[in-house]
Amino acid sequence: MSLVVQKFGGTSVADAQLIRSVATRIVATRNRGDDVVAVVSAMGDATDLLSDLAYQVCANPDKREMDLLLSTGELVSSSLLAMALRDIGQEAVSLSGLQAGIRTERRFGKARITGIDAKRIEKEVSRGKVVIVAGFQGATDDMDVTTLGRGGSDLTAVALAVQLQATMCEQFTDVEGVFTADPRLVSDARKLKDISYEEMLELASYGAKVLHPRAVELGSVHNVPIFVASSFSSAPGTLIHGGTLMEVSEKVRGIAHDTDVAKVTVLGVPDQPGAVAGLFEPLSEAQIRVDTIVQNTSAENVTDVTFIVSRLELGNAISVVEPAIRSINARGWVADERLAKVSVVGAAMRTAPGYAARMFRALFEAGINIEMVTTSEVRITCIVEADRVPEAVRALHNAFNLATLDGDA
Ligand code: ASP
Ligand code: MG
Repeated sequence: MSLVVQKFGGTSVADAQLIRSVATRIVATRNRGDDVVAVVSAMGDATDLLSDLAYQVCANPDKREMDLLLSTGELVSSSLLAMALRDIGQEAVSLSGLQAGIRTERRFGKARITGIDAKRIEKEVSRGKVVIVAGFQGATDDMDVTTLGRGGSDLTAVALAVQLQATMCEQFTDVEGVFTADPRLVSDARKLKDISYEEMLELASYGAKVLHPRAVELGSVHNVPIFVASSFSSAPGTLIHGGTLMEVSEKVRGIAHDTDVAKVTVLGVPDQPGAVAGLFEPLSEAQIRVDTIVQNTSAENVTDVTFIVSRLELGNAISVVEPAIRSINARGWVADERLAKVSVVGAAMRTAPGYAARMFRALFEAGINIEMVTTSEVRITCIVEADRVPEAVRALHNAFNLATLDGDA
């Protein structure tokens, strides 16, 4: 018998009726002949509500307590799902991350999984039970509960699929799969049949909300196929895998956008060895993720250094940068929060030229100014004004002919 891991996101278990229909779907999978380990997120916006509560009782919640609190959201949905399964005649047991043997490092709020002792899960599965694991959580070696970071249930599911050698990790969510662009912005966005890990990792890292980037990365390292589909319909979803793609073409695969972007420019940085290190080392020690670093050409031995952080981290970044500016003798800083990233992604870029030129022309023709540009081998990202994102995404979707299957761009 083969085993599949099925993950159900927060909107898929948002109320009692939805939990019952998830139970029905799991039983259908069992009837097809597969063992099932399910992973659930917290119901609806339960995690946000719990977090709000924490800030209502205190200004600065203790990190350990916060993780224990947030982990309860997934305990609610997993135990309810187990009850719903038993009610329709399917033996089931729910397990917290700790009970499921998910071990993490001791880093509250964004712990990494260090290992999974799957004995309990395997024992329950061998007894014919569906095992439901509370997503997004694990425990340290000394049994303190940790969480994996927002959206972390995706990661729980892929990690379990790896450990249990599942044939597939199925991610059921509120969208039908991976689209060529956000269908809310682009009416003729097209659902992809399949996509490579590499391309999906770029899309997810640059704003496609459908899967957590760390989950894609883990799937890629261990070559576990990930299938993304809607839990509200039976429409075929998107397969993320490492094999040969069905739709091989010269085309861009998709457009991602991310409006959680802030730009910081440090002015008058002395143009001498060590100055830039003096700026970025403190940011790294504070675990602030920085990307798209641009150092301008230097005139009169000073230079400006610009970088991008998440808008949510801007306050932290500034409080780290200010003392650093004093210590390296830079002049000061300016920040801009009203920015966004739009990215085109496709492995074809690696071999064919001209994608950047086409992207810049499309944005120019839409009258959109490009503030910064960054690339990987298979991605080009432009930083633009956040207000212009819908137009930018539509313009790029058109320019790269993404609405049609054939007719390579
Ligand atoms: N419930 C957590 C969150 O809202 C984890 C998840 O949904 O994956 O971030
Ligand atoms: Mg999610």
